[in-house]
Amino acid sequence: MAEAIVRTRFAPSPTGIMHIGNLRSALYEYLIARVAGGHFILRIEDTDRERLVEGAVEAIYKTLRTCGIHHDEGPDIGGPSAPYVQSERLPIYRRYANDLVKQGDAYPCFCSIERLASLHEEQSGDDFIGYDRHCREIDPAEAAARIEKGEQYVIRQKMPLLGETSFSDAVYGTITVDNKTLEDQVLIKSDGYPTYNFANVVDDHLMGITHVVRGSEYLSSTPKYNLLYETFGWEIPVYVHLPLIVGEDGRKLSKRHGATSFDELIEAGYLPEAIINMIAFLGWSPGNTTRENFTLEELESAFTISGISKAPAVFSYKKLDWMNEQYIKNMPEDTWIAMVKEKADTLFKDQPYDAAMLARVLKERTTRLSDIPDTIAFMVETPTYARDLFKLKRAKLNAEKAADILAALIPDMEALQSWDEASIHDLLEQTIATQNRKKGEIMGAVRLALSGRTVTPGGAIELAVILGRDVSLSHMKNALDFLNETDVTSE
Ligand code: GLU
Repeated sequence: MAEAIVRTRFAPSPTGIMHIGNLRSALYEYLIARVAGGHFILRIEDTDRERLVEGAVEAIYKTLRTCGIHHDEGPDIGGPSAPYVQSERLPIYRRYANDLVKQGDAYPCFCSIERLASLHEEQSGDDFIGYDRHCREIDPAEAAARIEKGEQYVIRQKMPLLGETSFSDAVYGTITVDNKTLEDQVLIKSDGYPTYNFANVVDDHLMGITHVVRGSEYLSSTPKYNLLYETFGWEIPVYVHLPLIVGEDGRKLSKRHGATSFDELIEAGYLPEAIINMIAFLGWSPGNTTRENFTLEELESAFTISGISKAPAVFSYKKLDWMNEQYIKNMPEDTWIAMVKEKADTLFKDQPYDAAMLARVLKERTTRLSDIPDTIAFMVETPTYARDLFKLKRAKLNAEKAADILAALIPDMEALQSWDEASIHDLLEQTIATQNRKKGEIMGAVRLALSGRTVTPGGAIELAVILGRDVSLSHMKNALDFLNETDVTSE
């Protein structure tokens, strides 16, 4: 028999923002499909009406698009298994639930919320077994009559009372549970909506999903899903459960550790490419290499199910910092300039600046995009000076020398035909020679005059180019005035 075409799905519930764990599921599902030349499907699981969050579906689309995780079928593009939104498939679930009732594998349950609540309280010991199967033995004719009369009910799955259920997971191996521990779970709720547990299985079957990939928090429910497949006589998919994501302290990743959603990571200044690369390694490794930088495109051929580990995956912000730096360093010039401009424009406002030079200076020095405004804030401020600032021991510079240097340099710089890197460089080199100064003195004096700082991103020449002729000369004159005014008193 020919191998079935691999079909995976991302099945988010639109209940809020996209967490790192959700995005990892989406990524792995996408990659498993791509590696095999299969199909990746987006399905919206919106049956829990109380937990729906407005805008959540749009956020899912946006995140997937930003990350380059493109689906082949989904609510927005359709496909052979449409509709792809569960709330539009209610008659389907109803039909399958009724089939189960007819064949004696499910039953209507009329227990009130109050009864279930008191049951829950009574059972709060070690051996909680959930619903006590109170309605399981109601005669089908009686049940039908009660439904006819309009009594509220849910439909529950009949779990086997004896024996064990086993299933095999591609990551966690064979898992066996005692059937006694399985609750007769609700398949259809009293509002007519299916539970996640039921709709998910029905849809995975009807949509031809071959690999069910999701977080390990679903592992304990999988025996119940497996029993549904068996009851219907459907082919069981390959289960791929993904390890827990923890912080560096080994505890489940949470707000306490830092940003935990895609949007928060973007907000914190990380690039989508770096986030995706980082997330790819949350539970997966390529095996034959220690290399950790993989673009999405590279992952699309390198990813393997066998490389997924069940050991908890550690989310390290330090590692993400490092990855982000790598992506910034390797980014095409134009893309980087545009990104820097986006941050810098709001800061520089009407003050002209050289974006290309600023981007060049920041490229090797930026960890997170969100650091940029702070790093460059001084460039839009008028520097303030102190005489002591000009004492650079290593360069043997002091305030008097700095004043001499600036006094000689300002007219020459004013006379420069063109204010560019090469011209400024040549002029400063010339000054070093003609004034018989050390390079450190000249560069130090100019840098201090332009910034009021001894340490800056970029040196004297870069700063002069970034700030442009007018601002640079104005700062240099201010510095000279300051040094002249304070001349006698403090040396
Ligand atoms: N709707 C479930 C969730 O958002 C899907 C879990 C699954 O992939 O089966 O977690």
